[in-house]
Amino acid sequence: MPETVYIGLGSNLGAPEDNLRAALERLAQVEGVERIAVSPFYRTAPFGITDQPEFINAVARLSTTLEPRALLDTLLEIEKEMGRVRKQKWGPRLIDLDILLFGGRVIEEPGLTVPHPGIAERGFVLAPLADLAADLPHPTLKQNVKQLYDALGASTDTRRIESEG
Ligand code: ADP
Ligand code: MG
Repeated sequence: MPETVYIGLGSNLGAPEDNLRAALERLAQVEGVERIAVSPFYRTAPFGITDQPEFINAVARLSTTLEPRALLDTLLEIEKEMGRVRKQKWGPRLIDLDILLFGGRVIEEPGLTVPHPGIAERGFVLAPLADLAADLPHPTLKQNVKQLYDALGASTDTRRIESEG
């Protein structure tokens, strides 16, 4: 059975919005992956290292017959093809693709943690995720996406910029 998966996308180099669109196009072309919906795009002040361009973030809902590890490898391959240079943790990047949720699965393996551990602290993930799936329960935190987003309150510096999908 196909699983419903949420992917987080981020970029802050070159033309970030075009980078997101290019990554979404590549993803949709992958055998075993079907794109169902894309959130609006958001503009986010940089996190960690603040002396770098703003990020554009979005979330996509996919349907996939791939297993989580195969999907992760696909995402890393797309990042690589699009020329991401992995220099600095939290540093500038052409494209970052993360598996946020993979159905209701909980995975703790070397190199793959699902649900993505940053979800609850990141407005730039929760805001677009709430646009697509406000009622979706987080598999381990036992709150839905809207509750998690509300709990972050005003501490998030993320603004919607455009309607996509
Ligand atoms: P981040 O996305 O946290 O800023 P990176 O993209 O540089 O950091 O980290 C990528 C690494 O994170 C990948 O090599 C991958 O093995 C690992 N990873 C663990 N869990 C996930 C996940 N759910 N989605 C994407 N990458 C993950
Ligand atoms: Mg990543």
